[in-house]
Order: sequence, then structure tokens, then C-alpha cells
Amino acid sequence: MISPNTIQQITNRIDIIDIVGEFVKLKKRGTNYIGNCPFHNEKTPSFTVSPSKEIFKCFGCGKSGNSITFLMEHEKYGYVEALKWLAARYNIEIEETETSPEQKQLIQTADSLYIINNFAQKFFTSQLFDTETGRNIALSYLRERGFNEEIIHKFQLGYNPDSRDTLAQALIANQFNPELLPKTGLVVVRNDDQLVDNYRNRIIFPIHANTGKIIGFGARIIGKNDRAPKYINTPENEIYIKSRILYGAYQARAAIDKADECLLVEGYTDVISLHQAGIENVVASGGTSLTTDQIRLIRKYTNNLTIIYDGDSAGVKAALRGLDMALEEGLNVRLVLIPDNEDPDSYVNKVGASAFNDFVARSKKDFVIFQLEVMLKEAGNDVSRKSTVVNQIAETLSKISKAEDFTKQQDYIRQCAGLLRIDEAGLTNLVNKYKREKISKEERKAQSQQPDLDDMPPPPDMMGQPEDVLDDTTRLLAQDEAHERNILRVLLEYGLRSWDETTNMADYIFSELEHFHLETPALEKLYEEYRSWYQQGLEPTIKSMLYHDNEEIRNLVVSLSVFPFELSQNWDEVLEGMNIVNRDTSKQDVLMSVNYYKLRRIKKMIEENQRDIEHAAVDDDFKKLLDVHKYLKDAEREITRQLGTVIIK
Ligand SMILES: [Zn+2]
Repeated sequence: MISPNTIQQITNRIDIIDIVGEFVKLKKRGTNYIGNCPFHNEKTPSFTVSPSKEIFKCFGCGKSGNSITFLMEHEKYGYVEALKWLAARYNIEIEETETSPEQKQLIQTADSLYIINNFAQKFFTSQLFDTETGRNIALSYLRERGFNEEIIHKFQLGYNPDSRDTLAQALIANQFNPELLPKTGLVVVRNDDQLVDNYRNRIIFPIHANTGKIIGFGARIIGKNDRAPKYINTPENEIYIKSRILYGAYQARAAIDKADECLLVEGYTDVISLHQAGIENVVASGGTSLTTDQIRLIRKYTNNLTIIYDGDSAGVKAALRGLDMALEEGLNVRLVLIPDNEDPDSYVNKVGASAFNDFVARSKKDFVIFQLEVMLKEAGNDVSRKSTVVNQIAETLSKISKAEDFTKQQDYIRQCAGLLRIDEAGLTNLVNKYKREKISKEERKAQSQQPDLDDMPPPPDMMGQPEDVLDDTTRLLAQDEAHERNILRVLLEYGLRSWDETTNMADYIFSELEHFHLETPALEKLYEEYRSWYQQGLEPTIKSMLYHDNEEIRNLVVSLSVFPFELSQNWDEVLEGMNIVNRDTSKQDVLMSVNYYKLRRIKKMIEENQRDIEHAAVDDDFKKLLDVHKYLKDAEREITRQLGTVIIK
């Protein structure tokens, strides 16, 4: 981990206008800066950056955050990567905290593997262009396949000559650790302990991480050879983890972002041919079914995935297996089948880029509907098989569980019911049945496991939820949560200001809420984290806590600091009405927030107590409960009186 000291140095230096300005053209307007939003298409700027709050917000698409989250969103960096980018920019030396010996070993091995791969790539490229056999055999083969030199360089293609150990000798001569070399898959150990080349007489396709570093290789045989596999790939090692790799993602990411669509093909050569034709938003999965990691990688850039496979490919069946997972992750998946035994590579070479694009646009078929049609065709007139199909499609549709995808699910139900010639309401019921089963299964699972705070999802952002989706209980909960969020807002905003001569606002809030705990786990966690920073003298504020190393806490702080707050807006109006708007209203804000929160909690306690009174069996209990009732009522009256005073003052 990067040390807190380094993070402190970085955050001291950050200038959000400078960081965002690197990627967005900003103009000053008043105290803020505005520009065209980099996250959605717009002609009039609604993307606003506030240098004083160190926050950006787009009033068009709603994206918001600070410098770090901007880099994470815009450049798809991880948290640590973003910090490293900032450190490099401000010439800050990164100090890392102690890592365990195992971690150290892992990092060292990974670094060595990168260095070996980097060396090997240069070796392969030079073999391809600078040797006679490379040019005669490999380069001429690539040219025959239609690749020009520019694209060969862009994808850093290379050639491993047809000799026993040319690469192995070069690696040994450069004193790379001989024990690590077999891990890279570039060489293998023979019986006589000699290292020999593994990719003899093959075209080499380097595979890049998102940072551009080479994590492994695919090696394709030249010409036909029935005794050898067509492709050999790097074996799994510390940096090559197959389930996380999408070939071409490094070269395609900007284009995917821009097109808001990712094309998925099967092979390396499909990716390269499409690039050469100017279609750059394309990646390859290697023809296996998509993994969750790969789906999440795509979702970093877009929600729209178009799978382009050749019609008879076994890959189509494989891809179909990944469908339910893609739906759960909220991807819109479409499918295009290339006709006549062509693959994307040969097809784009045959018809050219614009005809290829037209064909894709014309033939895009929704994946769910495609799957249903395939299943229906297979079922034919068999009634029992058709009922299996109905159940399967209902289960698939039940996986669409994100609230924002509700309309999408309704659309699917309508279309599928039509294709199946069954009643729409019936299908809806069946889908809901699967949904309930899934939820109760998850609940059982959750109950059997000890809940872990770190695994809890962040609270839903209530501002974005359409009212009618929420039932009454959720709405009540939302209200409670809103009050809790408000407590944290005032804490973050005013906590370090003084309440009176001896105490801060934070001290006041802590003592007033001593007997309560926040009911939303994520908010309680932030509250406790604030308290612990405060008690250690770390000066928690919105700005400092925006750089907390826990992502959940960072996101909460952003959402608390950016969104206008319903509750506080209400009393802003009250205060405005009394012409005290220009005075510092922080104290009133804190008082009202704390008291409204307490009032709400006490009212709930009174209700609960009243229910207990109704059901009290023993006289003794009854008397105790009445005492509690009186105590709570007194507290309620006192708070109401205080609130009244605040407003009148
Ligand atoms: Zn926007």
C-alpha cells in the first residue's frame, strides 16, 4: 500500500482544475469552471468543476466526484493507479508501507515477468523485420493475410524463428533468472535440463494489460500443420490470468468509450483486421464463454456489448453460456452472425469497412430473443419441451434485477410472451417467482454467514430512485436514511468548527447522539471512521476523507458532499424567510439536524413502546412501560421546544 504520508503529500498538491483540465477544456465562470462533459455527449457545457470544493459534477448525466475518482472514471485507473499517476505528475516520490514477505515475493516475480516479456517482444519484432527468414516466412505470411506494416507495429506482432533455442539463448545471455523463464511459457525445459524455444516458427501476438505492459503472448502456427495446435498461449502465472483478459482492450479502450459500444470477436486476427479497417472498438475473448471479470472489464467502458461471431462457430454456443451473467451485470447484449463460413477477419477484408459496419448495424439481434428463437426451434411442436423453454427464459429474465433495468425487463417479457404465444401476465408471474426464489436463496445464504460490514453494498442513492418503485417500507427507510445522511453531512461540513469556547461541533454531535447508533451500516461505518480520525487528531473533513483508502467510504463522502440535501434545503428556506441567510448558519444547521434526527428516533421508540404497552401481560411490566413512555414524551417535548427556539431566534 501507498503510505498515508505520500497520500497526504499528493492531496496537498492536487489542483482539480489542473487535473481535469488535462482531459477537458475548461472555461472560468464565476467561482467555478465549466466544460463539455467527458462522460456523455453534449453541445452546451453542463460539466462543472468547483476548485474550492475540489469536486466536479455534471448536471447533464449526474457524474460527480473528486480528482481521484475523475481519473478512475475517465482513465479507468484503479485507486492506487490514480494515486501513482498523480504522484508522477507532481514529482512526489512514492513511499510504500510494509508489505508481507509473500506480497513482496509476488510483486518481485510479477515485475520480473514483465521485464522478460518486454525483452521477448522486442526480440520477436526484430526477428520479424530484421532477419531474412523473418521477412521471407513470417512477414510475407502476414502480408498475405492482408495486414499492413502500420497495424503490425501497432499490435507489436513478431516472429519466433524455426530453431531450437534462438530465444532461449538470448534470454540466458541477458542473465534473466533461469528459474522464472519457464513460467513465461516462452521456453520449456527439456529432459536434459536445457531450455528450448516453445513458439518455434510461430507468429507472436503480445497480449497487453490496460496499462500497456505485456502480460503474455499468443503464438500462431504459420501455415497448416495437423499435428501441432494452431495457437499456444502463455500458461497462467502471476500476471497472466486468463479469465481477466480481453485481447485488444488496451488498443480499443478509447474507441469503446467514444462509441459507447464494445464489439466482441473470437480471434486475435479478427481484432487486428477490424482495427486496420478503422473499426477500433473491438476486443476478443478467445472464443470461450465470457467470465464475470471480463464482463466487468467491458462495463467499465460501456453497457452495450455486440458479439460478432461466424455463424457455425462453436463460439456462439460458448458465448450463450455467459449470457445470464451479462444480464445480471446490466449489459445490453446483441449478437451478429457472419454468414457463409466467413469470420469477421475475412468478411471485413472481403466487403470493406463501411459495408461491414452496415451489415453489423442491420443484423444486430438481441441476445435474449436470439436464445429464445434457438430454443423454440429445437423444441419444435413438443409440448413438454416448450414448457421447459418457458421456464428457462423466465429464469433468464429474472436475472435482470437492477432497478434501472425494470423497463428493459418489461420489454423482454412482452416480446418473449409474443414469441412463445403465451399470456404476458403469466410470464410476469413466472419471472417474479424466480426472482423471489433467488432472493430467498440469497437471504438464507446471508443468514447462514456472519454479515461482514466490508461486504455490505453501499446504501442505494435515494435521489436517483423513481418514487413509484419504492414501496411504503422502503420509502420510510429512505426517510430514516436521509436523516442519517444529513447527520454525516453536517459532521463533515462543520465538525471542526467551534461550537463554543471549549468544544467543536463534532463534540456536540457526538455527545448528543451518544445513546444512538446509525441504522444504515455504511453510514454508521463512516460515522465511526470520522470519530476515530477526529479522536486521533487527524482533522477529518470532506476534502481529507475523500482520499480514504476504503472505496465505500470515499463514495459516500462524495455523494454526501455533492448532492443538494432535501432536508437541509427545507430549513434553508425557513432561515432565508427570516433574513438570516447571510449569517453563518452552521450552528443552526447542526442543531436542527441533530434534533430532527433525535426526534425521529424518539417518535419511533414511542410507537414501539406503545405496541408493547398494548401487549403487556403483567402489571409490573405495564408500569415500567408507562414510565418509559413518560420519559420519552418528555424528551420529545424538550426537543420540540428546542427546535421551536431555533426557528424563533
Ligand atoms: Zn455528463
